[in-house]
Amino acid sequence: MYDVLIIGGGVIGSMIARRLSRYTLKTVVLEKEDDVGEETSSANSAIVHSGYDPKPGTLKAKLNVEGNAMFDDIARELDVQFERIGSITLANTDEEVEVLKDLAKRSEANGVPYKILNHDELKEIEPNITDQVKQGLLCPTAGIVNPFELTVAGFENAMDNGVELFLNQTVKSIKRVGDHFVVTTQDKEYETKYVINAAGTHADEINDMVNEPFFRIKPRKGEYMVLDHFDNSYCRHTLFNVPSSKGKGVLISPTTHHNYLIGPSAEFVDDREDVSTDAETIKNVKEQARRLFDSINYREQIRTFAGDRAYAEDLNGKGMDFIIEETTPHFINVAGIQSPGLASSPAIARMVVDMIEDKVEKKDYNPTRRPTIRLKEKDLDTKVALVKENPKLGKIVCRCETVSEGEIIDCIHRNCGARTIKGVKRRVRPGMGKCQGGFCQVEVGKILARELNENVMDVMYGKTGSYILKENLNKEGK
Ligand SMILES: Cc1cc2nc3c(=O)[nH]c(=O)nc-3n(C[C@H](O)[C@H](O)[C@H](O)COP(=O)(O)OP(=O)(O)OC[C@H]3O[C@@H](n4cnc5c(N)ncnc54)[C@H](O)[C@@H]3O)c2cc1C
Repeated sequence: MYDVLIIGGGVIGSMIARRLSRYTLKTVVLEKEDDVGEETSSANSAIVHSGYDPKPGTLKAKLNVEGNAMFDDIARELDVQFERIGSITLANTDEEVEVLKDLAKRSEANGVPYKILNHDELKEIEPNITDQVKQGLLCPTAGIVNPFELTVAGFENAMDNGVELFLNQTVKSIKRVGDHFVVTTQDKEYETKYVINAAGTHADEINDMVNEPFFRIKPRKGEYMVLDHFDNSYCRHTLFNVPSSKGKGVLISPTTHHNYLIGPSAEFVDDREDVSTDAETIKNVKEQARRLFDSINYREQIRTFAGDRAYAEDLNGKGMDFIIEETTPHFINVAGIQSPGLASSPAIARMVVDMIEDKVEKKDYNPTRRPTIRLKEKDLDTKVALVKENPKLGKIVCRCETVSEGEIIDCIHRNCGARTIKGVKRRVRPGMGKCQGGFCQVEVGKILARELNENVMDVMYGKTGSYILKENLNKEGK
């Protein structure tokens, strides 16, 4: 019998699992995919929003500001890349300047530090903005984080502290039996005292297994372009257009790896996992980005991607706040966690774990994850010393992102380790660069097979069935 069962291996499941791991509770996480962070938590703008935008008095406003303040400690403890670079919302017209005034009032009400800057002040700190920009709202507490790394690191640390994680477990039904629940997946039953629903765009389906339906998730897709890292000072802050009814609009932002993100679009889609991109939408994103920067170096574009927001509405079609409540005893919905869900995730976890009764703190809880290697960031002397200690760190597998065999092996053998080529790519970045894995993908596959003691033919790119090799032409069968 588990004390707590979490459905969903996204950033919300991760932060809750880690928070629960401080207590002597028997906790398990069920995730339907082959890896954690496979859905929205790895396909977003990666912004730790300051909290200037959500309506004052909402859970979104409260948890965004609280979550933002928790990021320095979380990033340090989990060794996750995070930088407080600040965000600026740019106004190009008189009407937009009026919207900025409203946003400044919201910032004030939400307790978010801000400053209004004029065109010349903005040009000094962001030289590439358009001449049309009139004013900007600078929020210095905004940051950028590596969202996938945060999700993985939270699970790794939770598992180091005793939490169990089962992948490829799709929850099909939940039944209350006496004082506990029986949660059934395609091949197993789990008994638990508490259920936490952190199933992202599927959260309404999970709710409906236990409660009367009271909300619907309408997935709203956002498409992006990614530029290679070509100039670290090209864009120094996260730059937003003024928000509209569809959300915060198109932004340009550096990532923690000095790539640049341009997007997202915002269109409702039928399929909860539709992450396709199309030329027309990308063209519209480019047009909106032109309101921020005159000329964007699209020759540096290396990829497009998309993620689905878990937009929640009530049964009358009215948009909802984050839904975080113990809807029936011991069943906690954490649903409708669209933006700023990433920024709010540590505070959401604290709020949810506070709802669990009868917790006893562990004496041996360790909040710190073993640091990752990140060879590329080290100076030459440190690299030399590290390679002497572990020669596999001297063998570079991905030349675009300078990733060594030693780092790939390390990410496979940690708790919540990589099992697929995409899992390795997201953890230590081979395949994230200009060639997008053209040169290193097969080598990564061979390392995975060797380290996991699998046949190389069985290594998957990502989801189950995504084989990368068709036939083994090596007569010795290696
Ligand atoms: C385009 C876009 C931009 C965004 N930008 C930002 C931003 O800059 N800053 C910010 O703060 N927020 C942002 N967000 C929001 C943020 O990404 C989300 O709030 C956050 O990732 C939600 O995490 P989650 O764990 O709830 O969902 P997910 O990451 O989707 O995780 C849910 C998990 O549940 C699993 N699951 C579902 N059904 C089942 C089942 N039956 N059984 C087992 N497992 C199941 C799924 O496979 C999935 O892994 C953005 C979102 C989008 C789409």
